[in-house]
Amino acid sequence: MKKSGQDPDLIASTQDQEPAGAAPDASLDSLFTNASTWGLEQGRNSGSPDAEAARDSAASAASKLTDGSRIAVIGGGPAGSLFSYFLLKTLDLVDTQVELDIYEPRLFTHSGPSGCNHCGGVVSESLVQILGAEGVLIPEEVVERGIDSYKMHMDVGAVRIDTPLHEKRIAAVYRGNGPRNSPPAMTTGFDRYLLQLATEYGANWQRQMVTDLQRHEQGWRLHCADNTAADYDLVVIACGINSALLIQTEKLGIKFHRPATLKTFIAEFKLGKQLIETTFGTSMHVFLLDLPKLEFAALIPKGDYVTLCMLGDEIDEELVNRFLNSPEVRECFPENRAPVNACHCFPRINVGPARQPYAEGMVFIGDSGVARLYKDGIGSAYRTAKAAAMTCALHGISESDFKQHYWPACRLITRDNTIGKLIFMVCTVIQKLKFTRRAVLRMVVLEQTLEGRKPRMSSVLWDVFTGSAPYTDVLLRTMHPAFLGHLCWNLVVANLPPIHAADKKVTAT
Ligand SMILES: Cc1cc2nc3c(=O)[nH]c(=O)nc-3n(C[C@H](O)[C@H](O)[C@H](O)COP(=O)(O)OP(=O)(O)OC[C@H]3O[C@@H](n4cnc5c(N)ncnc54)[C@H](O)[C@@H]3O)c2cc1C
Repeated sequence: MKKSGQDPDLIASTQDQEPAGAAPDASLDSLFTNASTWGLEQGRNSGSPDAEAARDSAASAASKLTDGSRIAVIGGGPAGSLFSYFLLKTLDLVDTQVELDIYEPRLFTHSGPSGCNHCGGVVSESLVQILGAEGVLIPEEVVERGIDSYKMHMDVGAVRIDTPLHEKRIAAVYRGNGPRNSPPAMTTGFDRYLLQLATEYGANWQRQMVTDLQRHEQGWRLHCADNTAADYDLVVIACGINSALLIQTEKLGIKFHRPATLKTFIAEFKLGKQLIETTFGTSMHVFLLDLPKLEFAALIPKGDYVTLCMLGDEIDEELVNRFLNSPEVRECFPENRAPVNACHCFPRINVGPARQPYAEGMVFIGDSGVARLYKDGIGSAYRTAKAAAMTCALHGISESDFKQHYWPACRLITRDNTIGKLIFMVCTVIQKLKFTRRAVLRMVVLEQTLEGRKPRMSSVLWDVFTGSAPYTDVLLRTMHPAFLGHLCWNLVVANLPPIHAADKKVTAT
C-alpha cells in the first residue's frame, strides 16, 4: 500500500469550480444490435491476414481475459457502467469469470453537484431505442419528462417541431438526484440506474476515488484516496473529461493525450411542475441567437426544474447574462424573466479526440477518449463502451487488440465529428444572418403546418438538436436537390419586402 499524495480530483464537482483540467462466436451476434450505423461491427471484420496482424495476434495471446482476470473500471458514469455491463454479459456467454471493480465515489443520491455528472440529461429517441434493444430499458421513474417536441426560438420568430412520427421518446433525465437544495427525489437518477445494472451482472462497486496509476510487471497498480492500492490486468479509464486523473495518465509513458475541451454552462431553474406544464410543457426550447461565442443553448423541462445548457466557445458569466436577458429567452419564463438559478456549474465538454485512447492493458472510453461533438455524449459513451468491451471479451487487451478492434469505432465518431464541425459552422452563419434565419423559419413553419409536406428542414434541425443521427447522415440530407430547392425558394420568398419591411415575427406553435 502506498500513499499517493494526490488530492481528490473531481474538479468540476462543485459549483463555480473550474476543472484542472477475430470474428466472434455467432451466438454473440445479438450483442451487435443496431451497431451498424456507427460501425460497432468493425471489430468483427477487421481481422487482417497480413504479417503484422499475425505477429500482433501472437503477442496478444498472452493478453486475453481468462478466469480470474482482474479488471478495474475507473468511473461509474454511463461509459464505465455500460462497459461493465457489456463485458460481464459477453464473458458470461463464453463461461469466463472475471473480477471487475468499478471505482466510483459518487452515490448519485445526493442533490446538487456532489451527486451529479453535469449534463443536460437529454437521451435521444434513437439512443432510448438502441439501449432498449441492448436490454438497458430506462425505467419510467428515471425519466423526469418525456419530450415530444422542440420549440426553436429566433429573433425572427419561433416554431414548434414535433417528434418525427409523433412518438414521445426523448427522455429528459437527471444524472444524479436533482439540483442543489432540492428535496431528495424518491426516484433513481440515470447514472445510479446504470451502475446498479452493472452490479446486477456481477461488477463490484468500490466507492473510492482513484488518485494514481502505475505500470506493474503484470499490469497496472491503482492507488485510491484512502491510501489503499490494488493490482489489475486491465484498467478501463471512464472518468469523464473533468477529472485530474486524465492528467496523471499522460505521465504514464503511454501515447495517450487528453481530449480537447471547452467550458460550458448548466443551470437549474425551479418553477414547479404545474408552471412547467403550462409554460414549457413537453417541449425542449432551443435558441438560435446572434450572440458571439454561443453555439447552442437549450432549456429542458424536467420535474420541478428547467435545465439550461449553453455550449460554445468558452462560455462565461457575461455571455450567460446576455443570453438570459435576451427577449427570446425572457418570454419563455413566467413573468418574462428567469428566476435566480438554484444550482449552476461550468463543466468542460469533450470537443476533440484523445490521442491514442488505448495502451497495453488500458483503454479510455466515453468522454475520457472520444465523444460526439456537442450532442449525444451519452450515446458515444455507449458506443465506445460497447466497442471496448467487445474487444476485451472477444479479442484481447493488448495495445494491438485495441488498435485493431477498438480504434475503428472511435475513428468513426471522430470522422463524423469533422462533418459535425461543418454543420455547426453553417448553424453559426444562420445565427449571424437574419435573411437566412427568416428562410429557415419559413421552411419549418410550412413543413409543420401544411399537411403532406416532407419535413426536410425540420428533420435536419431535429437531428442536429437531439444528436439522434450521425452528422454525415444529416449533411447528406441537406444535399438533396429538393432540400436545396426549397431552401433557395424560401430565401427569396421569406425576404420579400412586405415581411422585411414590417420585420414581422412568425410564430407557429
Ligand atoms: C453542458 C453539457 C451538457 C450536456 N448535455 C448532454 C445531453 O443532454 N445529452 C447527452 O447525451 N450528453 C450530454 N453531455 C455530454 C455527457 O455529459 C457526457 O458525454 C457523458 O456524461 C460522458 O459519460 P462518461 O461516462 O464518459 O463520463 P462522466 O459522465 O463524466 O462520468 C465519469 C465518472 O467518473 C467518476 N470519476 C471521475 N474521476 C474519478 C476518479 N479519479 N476515480 C473514480 N471515479 C472517478 C465521476 O464521479 C463520474 O461519475 C453534456 C455535457 C455538457 C458539458
